[in-house]
Amino acid sequence: MQPLVDPFARAISYLRVSVTDRCDFRCTYCMSEHMTFLPKADLLSLEELDRLCTAFVRLGVQKLRITGGEPLVRKGILTFFEAMSRHLATGALKELTLTTNGSQLAKFAQPLADLGVRRINVSLDTLDPAKFAEITRWGRLPQVLDGIEAAKAAGLHVKINAVALKGFNEDELFSLADWCAANGHDLTFIEVMPMGEDMTAGRLDQYWPLKDLRARLAERLTLTDLAERTGGPARYVRIEETGQKIGFITPLTHNFCESCNRVRLTCTGQLYMCLGQEDMADLRAPLRASPDDASPDDAGPGDASLEQAIRAAIARKPNGHDFDYSRQKVAGQITRHMSHTGG
Ligand code: SAM
Ligand code: SF4
Repeated sequence: MQPLVDPFARAISYLRVSVTDRCDFRCTYCMSEHMTFLPKADLLSLEELDRLCTAFVRLGVQKLRITGGEPLVRKGILTFFEAMSRHLATGALKELTLTTNGSQLAKFAQPLADLGVRRINVSLDTLDPAKFAEITRWGRLPQVLDGIEAAKAAGLHVKINAVALKGFNEDELFSLADWCAANGHDLTFIEVMPMGEDMTAGRLDQYWPLKDLRARLAERLTLTDLAERTGGPARYVRIEETGQKIGFITPLTHNFCESCNRVRLTCTGQLYMCLGQEDMADLRAPLRASPDDASPDDAGPGDASLEQAIRAAIARKPNGHDFDYSRQKVAGQITRHMSHTGG
């Protein structure tokens, strides 16, 4: 079986899958308060998601990240994790992980750990309950902190993802870092991206370049750049005083595309070869047109057209994205929401 390699010789080994566009929060930078969600009939069933992800694993994907929307609000989600965990058991999949807002972790952390999940990303932008309610609109901080505790108790390694927001969490830079260090969590800051049709004006006001955030950290702490790369947009530093590792995801100020190893599947079966481009390939049509005629892990004749569609999509993976705030206007903006493509 030929592995998936794109036109720029990048091997595609990492699939991010959005299992739902729905969420129990309404973070201001991600969704409008009155989001219209996709009709349920458009969503792939868990069985269809299994078949698609399994096709990707057959084609060489070794890391699967489940995201959304909020993945843990998808009904039956543990069944899906259980299905994917069989690929961990065979060794075909090296890592099964998820990105979550943490609201449901108190319930799901232990079952996820039991199914082979080892590390999770939890999004948390502030440790102030009032600010948390403001930025997530519907979220409540204590529930998320309880969830993070449950994850820790279940032995899951937690990475906190915080979106850097000017005038919002600037003053929490050190308290967030200290809290993560004290609790043994990794921490990564993310630059806010121009996603979603009605939100781009606000994005520019909120944009806090991570080079500024980093400079502020360096005023008090000694930062050492780490060579470590994950094939994604994160760069890491070590804080010499504490040994803590902090990541920076800078899609807007740093071009990370040359080492991109990932593609994104939406909950409706669209494959986005680049987060920052509109081009996508519909995999739902070939999926539904081809019968699932084999046992779950052996490709049957029906899977040939599906695999062909995946390969044709990878052959169109673009060189990179065009996000750019540098001219003091939002360029290269993307009208779909992050919750659709999966962050
Ligand atoms: N609901 C889950 C969560 O919040 O972790 C998973 C999906 S969410 C879309 C994934 C990540 O995207 C979160 O860390 C969130 O902060 C980030 N995100 C959403 N909108 C963003 C934006 N406009 N710019 C940068 N990051 C964004
Ligand atoms: Fe929901 Fe995550 Fe988007 Fe917040 S960032 S609204 S938690 S999908």
